[in-house]
Amino acid sequence: MNVTPSELAAAIRTIPDFPKPGIQFKDITPVLGNARLLAGCIERMIEGHVPGEVDAVVGIDARGFIFGAAAALRLQAAFVPVRKRGKLPFRTIEQSYDLEYGSNTIAMHVDALTPGSRVLLMDDLLATGGTAAAAIALIQRLDARILEAVFFVELESLGGRARLGSTPVRSLVAY
Ligand code: AMP
Repeated sequence: MNVTPSELAAAIRTIPDFPKPGIQFKDITPVLGNARLLAGCIERMIEGHVPGEVDAVVGIDARGFIFGAAAALRLQAAFVPVRKRGKLPFRTIEQSYDLEYGSNTIAMHVDALTPGSRVLLMDDLLATGGTAAAAIALIQRLDARILEAVFFVELESLGGRARLGSTPVRSLVAY
């Protein structure tokens, strides 16, 4: 593994007050824009997993698609998108979760995962954990088995990990 977590951390840009006042947005595009860092980041995200052990990688809209699809290719696994409600064309199952103000709903195709399939969940960042907890609920409703939830970045002070129940959680860079 030729990229260290501290190299990855150094490439993440914090943008204050984006997209609204008070949010410290973690911009991961400098990692995507560097071939060596991108490859190293994916290698670290799939650490501990090998082809044949994972049936599908579930990626969360939208930056989770980037990491999830790359990981799926490396693991010779399928890729499954979790999207905001109304974006997937076929029949879906949906799960809502609370935000600070209001709520959000995410969806997955009803036939996206077969019962018993072994799944990795991936997203760019774990904040409050609401999105990932809802994605885990969708995966479980299709009777698939989550091996691990993997995030590039984790904002530890928001306590997202605690919302993910018994699912093993791993992140590469924590703030
Ligand atoms: P949460 O449901 O609170 O864990 O939020 C996670 C989702 O929101 C992820 O898909 C992230 O891409 C996005 N997100 C939340 N907070 C941030 C942040 N500070 N910087 C970048 N993305 C964020």
